[in-house]
Formats: sequence, structure tokens, C-alpha cells
Amino acid sequence: MRRIVIVGAGQAGMLLALGLQRHGYQITVVTDRSAEELRTGRVLSNQCMFDKALRFERDQGLNFWDGRVPPVNGIAFGAAGEAGTTSPAISWQAPLDNPGQSVDQRVKMSDWLTEFADRGGEVRFSRMTPEDLEELAREFELVLVAAGRGPQFGKLFARDDSRSVFSEPQRGISLIYVVPTGSEAPDWYQGVTFGLCADGEFFSLPVLSVNGPVHGLYFSGINGGPIDCWSDITDAGQFFEQAEKVLRNHFPWLAPITEGTQPAGPLDFLHGRISPVVRDAVGTLDSGAKVLAMGDTAVTNDPIAGQGANMAAHCAAAYQRTILEQGAEPFDEQFMRRSFDRFWDTAQHATRFSNDLLLPAPRHVVATLATAQTVPAVAHRFAQLFNDPSDYTGWLTDEAAAMQYLTAASQ
Ligand SMILES: Cc1cc2nc3c(=O)[nH]c(=O)nc-3n(C[C@H](O)[C@H](O)[C@H](O)COP(=O)(O)OP(=O)(O)OC[C@H]3O[C@@H](n4cnc5c(N)ncnc54)[C@H](O)[C@@H]3O)c2cc1C
Repeated sequence: MRRIVIVGAGQAGMLLALGLQRHGYQITVVTDRSAEELRTGRVLSNQCMFDKALRFERDQGLNFWDGRVPPVNGIAFGAAGEAGTTSPAISWQAPLDNPGQSVDQRVKMSDWLTEFADRGGEVRFSRMTPEDLEELAREFELVLVAAGRGPQFGKLFARDDSRSVFSEPQRGISLIYVVPTGSEAPDWYQGVTFGLCADGEFFSLPVLSVNGPVHGLYFSGINGGPIDCWSDITDAGQFFEQAEKVLRNHFPWLAPITEGTQPAGPLDFLHGRISPVVRDAVGTLDSGAKVLAMGDTAVTNDPIAGQGANMAAHCAAAYQRTILEQGAEPFDEQFMRRSFDRFWDTAQHATRFSNDLLLPAPRHVVATLATAQTVPAVAHRFAQLFNDPSDYTGWLTDEAAAMQYLTAASQ
């Protein structure tokens, strides 16, 4: 029986742990939070996941919330007009071919962690350091690090300069979950509502949270600008007032989203900064042992395009396939590089899409978003990018191709 340890019980780590367990592998998960701590802790993400990523979870029988989680049926896009105008300059809606969904990670990860233990998986609680991995490397044949973003394992998994575009966070980000104040649910769009203005972005969507359905409101402010205004906020009430103000001032057509609502709970808000980075996913410990990064630990994107949780799932899928194919062969560096390369085949497109959205939109992208208003096929194609960003490469990365497509689609 092969012995594999996964550090981190998030979207990437738990999905791989449960997937391999189903194939008869003996998996150990080392994490810093129990299921109960996760469930009762602070909100973690807006975690909109799209069909391709969800399909892998369904294939593993891990879609425990289908039927209860509100569907994300489409994308509603709006771009602010000139200062002083309240209507968007560009506005369109497009259905997703298959619905997405967002299950609060506090629900999903606590349920998955419990399920994993119930199925006989070993869970150890510890906040690991890179040094602690030495002991794991002696005990296990394969050490996977799925401990999320942030600098904690940054020295172990070096920044890949050739694939990393930014060296610092590009946005002040924030999130709040809101619920109706009365028994009537507001008339929310059952999809992702996306707002764009000169100072940043906004997206909202229905989420299945710890106490039932909520709406997740995500704000993304250009560094130092008027939407980068969250760092002094310490409670959900203050946050809610700021959110109302930002919507009124910067996305006025979306201001009704908060009418008749209140914060879902005292821990249902967060703010911070995320540095997008692609790392060398193979780390070498002092002893010379190799360890493999996955999910955000390997590739961290700004959440602007809603890709991180989706990529964490794709990473679990890619690594699972490679582990199964490896059979009884050693989990050596070659195996690790093959695993990451398979993930990068998918992740490179999400990374490019996310990074480009952080930069001022070039002329052909503005033309695409504007044409989407009158040509449903263009809106439809753009909306599907969230599910499958591979179409972005070669379309919106190429000005001539994008303009040619618009001409053809408009006829
Ligand atoms: C505000 C916000 C909104 C977002 N919206 C979306 C969205 O709409 N769609 C989307 O796809 N993505 C979104 N994301 C990104 C998404 O949440 C992440 O990309 C995804 O959760 C990454 O999964 P992961 O398993 O790699 O890491 P994580 O989910 O961060 O999991 C890491 C795990 O490791 C554990 N851990 C951490 N350090 C240690 C340690 N030292 N020792 C042991 N255990 C440790 C943690 O407790 C956790 O269990 C959003 C992120 C944020 C912050």
C-alpha cells in the first residue's frame, strides 16, 4: 500500500485525498484546522466553481450539496459609464451552458474532512513549517503541500519568474456575505453579477453557506484607489455600510443588491491582498527529499476571474491521474514535474485570463465587451471563459484575431 501525505485540507488537498482514498490509497491529511473550527470560523472565499471543475467532483461522488446549492446560471456584465451617470455604459447577460455553483468552503471542507475521516482516512492536526516536512518525507513516499497561498512555503517553492507577471498584489480585495432582513429574498440575479469601473471590479453570486443561502459580494479595488478602502474595517456592520457606499458611488446600477439585506454573520466578511504568483512546484528539503506543491501553493491567481478554486480542483484531477498512472513506480522528481505540467496545461489559461483582467482592458477587449451587448454569440462566448479559460488564449490574447471574430460574429 502506497503511503501519501497531503498538507492542507482545502479545495485542492481534500479533493485529492478523497479521490485517492476511493481508489484504495492510504492517505494522511495534515491540517491546521478541525472540521468544527472550519465551520464556525471566518468566511474564506466566494468560491464560484464552474461545470468542468464540478464535473470532477461529481465523478468522485463528492457533490454532497447538489439540489441544495442555488445554481449559478449565467454571467451578467456591466461596465460603468461616465462619472455622474447611474446606468452602465455596457450591459449584457449570457447563460452558462451548464450551471456553476458556490458552496461556502466552511461547509464544503468541514463536510469533506469529516467524510474522509469516516472513510478511514488519517487526519493529523498541526500547523506545518517547511522544516516539519522532513519528518513527513521520511515517513511517506509522497508529500504534497496544498496549504494555500501566502509566503509560508515561499522559500521551498521558488517563484517561477518566467511564468509570474506581477511581484506584488494588484488589488485590495474584500468579501461580505449578506442575507435578506425579512422573509422575502431580494430579486437577485441567479448567476455571477460582474461590475467594472475605472477604480476596480465587483462580483456577486448566490452561495450555500453554513446557515443556508446567502449572497456573496466581492470587491476588488485598484491599489490606493477609492475602492481599496477596507483595511481599517473591523466589524461586519461597518463593512456592510462601506459596501453600500462603494456600490452607490462606483457601481450605481448594482446598488439595489444590498437593499433589504444585512450581514449574514459577524465572521462573514474578510479583506486582504493576494499576490499572483506561479511557483516551481517541486521543492527540495535540506535532506534532498522532494515535495510537490498543489493548488494555490503552486499557482496563486488574483480572484478577479473566479479561477482559484476551479484550478485547485483541476490540480487535484491532474495529480490524481498521474498518481494512478504511476502505479508502483517511485514518486520521483520526474513524476512530480509530469504532474505539475499536466496541471499547468489547464492553469496557464486561467492565469493569463486572471492576470490580463488586472490590467487596463485593451481596445479589442473593450470592443468585445461592447459588442456582446448586441451580439448574444459574443456574450455567450465570453461567459463560457469562466468555465473554460483555454478559449481566452488565441482569442482575446490576439488583437487581430479578436477583431476579425467580432466582424464575423456581427454579420
Ligand atoms: C475573497 C476571495 C474570493 C474568491 N473567489 C473565488 C471564486 O469565486 N472562484 C474561485 O474559483 N476561486 C475564488 N477564490 C480563490 C479560492 O478560494 C482559492 O484559490 C482556493 O481556495 C485554493 O484552494 P487550495 O486548496 O489551494 O488552498 P486553500 O483553500 O487556501 O486551503 C489550504 C488549506 O491548508 C491549510 N493550511 C494552511 N497552512 C497550513 C499549514 N502551515 N499547515 C497545515 N495546514 C495548513 C488551511 O487550513 C486549508 O485547509 C477566492 C479567494 C478569495 C480570498
